[in-house]
Amino acid sequence: IIYNMVINFAAGPAKLPEEVLKEVQTNLLNCNGSGISVMEMSHRSGNYAKIHDTAIADLRELLNVPSNYKVLLMQGGGTGQFAAVALNLIGCTGTADYVITGSWSAKAAKEAAQYGKVNAVLPKLPKYTDVPRQSSWKLDANASYVYYCDNETVEGVEFDFVPQVDAKVPLVCDMSSNFLSRPIDISKFGVIFAGAQKNIGPAGVTVIIVREDLIGKHLKITPSILNFEQMDKNNSLLNTPPTFGIYVMGLVFKWIKRSGGVAGMCERAKAKSQLIYEIIDQSKGFFYCPVQKQVRSHMNVPFRIGSASGDEKLEKEFLAQAEAEGMIQLKGHRSVGGIRASLYNAITLAETQQLAKLMLAFYENNKN
Ligand code: PLP
Repeated sequence: IIYNMVINFAAGPAKLPEEVLKEVQTNLLNCNGSGISVMEMSHRSGNYAKIHDTAIADLRELLNVPSNYKVLLMQGGGTGQFAAVALNLIGCTGTADYVITGSWSAKAAKEAAQYGKVNAVLPKLPKYTDVPRQSSWKLDANASYVYYCDNETVEGVEFDFVPQVDAKVPLVCDMSSNFLSRPIDISKFGVIFAGAQKNIGPAGVTVIIVREDLIGKHLKITPSILNFEQMDKNNSLLNTPPTFGIYVMGLVFKWIKRSGGVAGMCERAKAKSQLIYEIIDQSKGFFYCPVQKQVRSHMNVPFRIGSASGDEKLEKEFLAQAEAEGMIQLKGHRSVGGIRASLYNAITLAETQQLAKLMLAFYENNKN
């Protein structure tokens, strides 16, 4: 198998580190000396227990997870957690605060509204290109929790601060698309969740970090597989877990550990995204990113070509040229159009430089 034939800028499922893929390949038929692949291993076996527990322990180490927090591995993706968060927490007071700054937090709020009263902290934004400062938020002192999405994958809007909330109201955060890309102080949060398929592994596994005292407050109707208490009591082995996904995610955690940890990922993310944003900003409007500078995502860089609303012909040409040079999955989300370069942890600086080179050449050839 030849690696690196293409550079994959997908928004998720996304590129995995080459070293990890090679390890998966090497161990595919004989996982850790078991004689079988991880996909064929009982989730109750000692061999699997080691994979499962090591992944959780490594994650705890990478993020310095305090001892009063539990790490759960669940299924259902980010969307499953939109429901799970509400099912597990909204019953405390029957209402929750949602900070809607993009497509994913909007979806989360809609899902939660099935289980309780959702208070929109912000007036409906005409477009998702900024994070209104907290002084303008209308928080409800009676909320069961305050919910936000740290990085809006579709629009490329990333929080540049951690919201400050009343100590009695837990902060719930969707970190699906920037998990392990920057250090975080877990103690500021009640719940953090992340689908794996962007920064930490294949689709199918979802990580939840939850403060212990928030476990056990679920609505009676909560399905067992979305129930934090049941998952916690069973060390996330209530039912058959996504074993392959957890195995690969564990290898990604080891890779991050030997690649400078979360701080190392953060430095790389800054360098990569800065490279692309600088080209956008120096192109005199030829490339255009609608997102306010302060909250531009380090993971997903959306931009238009030709004008602020995008010249479709130029954008098509750019995508075709990118593909011809082996750079794939750069098309923007269907709801916003244009281009989106996702620069997750596994994307290297050298790969980002390839994209930068293409952008500069495209600018030179097509500017007026
Ligand atoms: N939250 C964010 C920030 C996302 O980017 C996505 C998916 O792209 C989701 C949630 C939904 O995740 P899933 O497709 O795993 O349900």
